[in-house]
Amino acid sequence: MPKLLIATENQGKVREFQELLTGLGFELLTPRQLGLNLNVIEDGDTYQENAGKKARAYAAASGLISLADDSGLEVAALAGAPGLYSARYSPKPGATDADRRLYLLENLRDKPRPWTAHFHATVAIATSDGNLRFVEGNCYGEIIPEERGTGGFGYDPIFLIPELGLTMAELDMDKKNRLSHRALAVQNALPVLRKVFGS
Ligand code: IMP
Repeated sequence: MPKLLIATENQGKVREFQELLTGLGFELLTPRQLGLNLNVIEDGDTYQENAGKKARAYAAASGLISLADDSGLEVAALAGAPGLYSARYSPKPGATDADRRLYLLENLRDKPRPWTAHFHATVAIATSDGNLRFVEGNCYGEIIPEERGTGGFGYDPIFLIPELGLTMAELDMDKKNRLSHRALAVQNALPVLRKVFGS
């Protein structure tokens, strides 16, 4: 089976990618399994730059075809913030996901509802010679002022999917993996992976 490296240190994302890509004919590997921790600095101005940088770094270090994503939450009332900066969105040193959710809600408090938002994911696939390909996925919903659910990670407990009446954190992994931004991006990545692997 062709080997595919899931090029992320975020364990929430590792779990999702493993679920999304299992049984599709790839041997999935993680940086942890290879003893790799490259600490790639995400200093790009676009999702593509950051995702490409991560995928390329891991492909070069491992010699394996590598898949990385850069993702974020875009809130309309905040002109698309936190967006590219979702993972670092809090002035507090050492902030946790919970701190970032609180900070987002503080910034939204005076804005009229609904607080429409979407998650975006750009997935990059890199080969060890530095070639890159990109695909994308979006998931639409709204931010709510109280946390609901314990699943997922990041902003999931305050991201409501209106058609389901559930937050992303109230979905089981199976369900999240049918509709999330990363799931849609991975679906779009499959034909690209088949081409890259020549299968
Ligand atoms: P990055 O792609 O590693 O830069 O991180 C993106 C950040 O966006 C994460 O740390 C989360 O804060 C947020 N994010 C991305 N995808 C999700 C998701 O599926 N649920 C909740 N938050 C997410």
